[in-house]
Amino acid sequence: MAKIDLYNFANRRALVRVDFNVPLDKSTFEITDDTRIRAAIPTIHKILSDGGSAILMSHCGRPKNGPDDRFSLRHIVSRVEELLGTKVHFSDQLFSESAYDKSSNLPQGEVLLLENLRFDPREKAGDTGFAKQLAKHGDVYVNDAFGTAHRAHTSTATIAKEFPTDKMFGYLIEKEIESVSRLMNSGQRPITAIVGGAKVSSKIKILTNLLTSVDALIIGGGMSYTFAKALGGSVGDSLVEDDYLETALEIVNKAKQLGVEILIPKDSLVADSFSEDAQTQVVETNAIESGWMGLDVGPVTIDEFHKTIVGSKTILWNGPLGVFEMPKFAAGTKAMAESIAEATDNGTFSLVGGGDSVAAVNQFGFAHKMSHVSTGGGAMLEFLEGKELPGLKAITG
Ligand code: AMP
Repeated sequence: MAKIDLYNFANRRALVRVDFNVPLDKSTFEITDDTRIRAAIPTIHKILSDGGSAILMSHCGRPKNGPDDRFSLRHIVSRVEELLGTKVHFSDQLFSESAYDKSSNLPQGEVLLLENLRFDPREKAGDTGFAKQLAKHGDVYVNDAFGTAHRAHTSTATIAKEFPTDKMFGYLIEKEIESVSRLMNSGQRPITAIVGGAKVSSKIKILTNLLTSVDALIIGGGMSYTFAKALGGSVGDSLVEDDYLETALEIVNKAKQLGVEILIPKDSLVADSFSEDAQTQVVETNAIESGWMGLDVGPVTIDEFHKTIVGSKTILWNGPLGVFEMPKFAAGTKAMAESIAEATDNGTFSLVGGGDSVAAVNQFGFAHKMSHVSTGGGAMLEFLEGKELPGLKAITG
């Protein structure tokens, strides 16, 4: 495996798997959030400034039956041009004579974007024949699509075999890998993970995997009520997964054995219905009466969590602390974003990824105050769970 920073792309055609799966307005096809395109720019710039050319390939949306203009990447060409400051050619075919003509005659310093990979059903099948057809476009393969690194698709995994030596990660994937390994292996202590979100069931693997790396584990959101109930509390009508009470206790016990501090919200903002117009009050999390449900953490908890966060040197945040989509229940999540921003400002390394916490930091305008906000929801979640990601394995071998 090569390293992008040390590689000289002069006179080479780099076939780059990017994640341009951007949201498009349904009627105008304008890009409503170009974060993913921006994230790929440093890699493309490096290739072009070395004197290479870049052939970009990506999927976009979920086309079901072959080519479908609603998911065409031609809608994004002008924005990619604008962000790169370079001419971007487009090929509406993936591997025809004319498509190969375009990539083989691409002048140095220029970019070709191929049509949506998922217009060909073999993309999701990890197909060797399709991989060979795509591989003809480039002399070197660069994977910078972290968002699809957990998929064993043709362009993210199978294709790497066609480039026995000239394959590497782009800067974005390198940064995602480095952020997680910093947290899991080499982070400065104390290391704190905040895991929130709706359900324990969807976060068990990540909780278990994190326990061996962190000093403190903050649990928030809907899942904290399963923990509170497992520990003997009354949680009223809060979200509880009764099947996971035992699992929650096991996590608490394992944490004790490992000397990991577990913080569960002491107080909650409870509501008499799951709505913005609900009546609310602050009560102890352990003493929520029937008819009331916890939808956010309370002020005592916000204070306690703040102290732990600003005393941490490495932080992972995965999942909101409350139903932040409704302003009435967003205070806990917003306060967490503020605390992490403050810690980061004081030199703490912070990684936000793998859940709705990314949406939350974006919504509250805190994304630029974090050390790294992951671009891959599902991919980051699986990475944090300790799973091997096919897109990464294909390069590292
Ligand atoms: P996840 O995708 O697992 O990170 O879960 C995110 C979702 O959890 C968000 O849509 C939140 O609204 C929801 N959530 C957070 N706190 C609570 C809570 N106390 N009760 C119910 N849902 C919650």
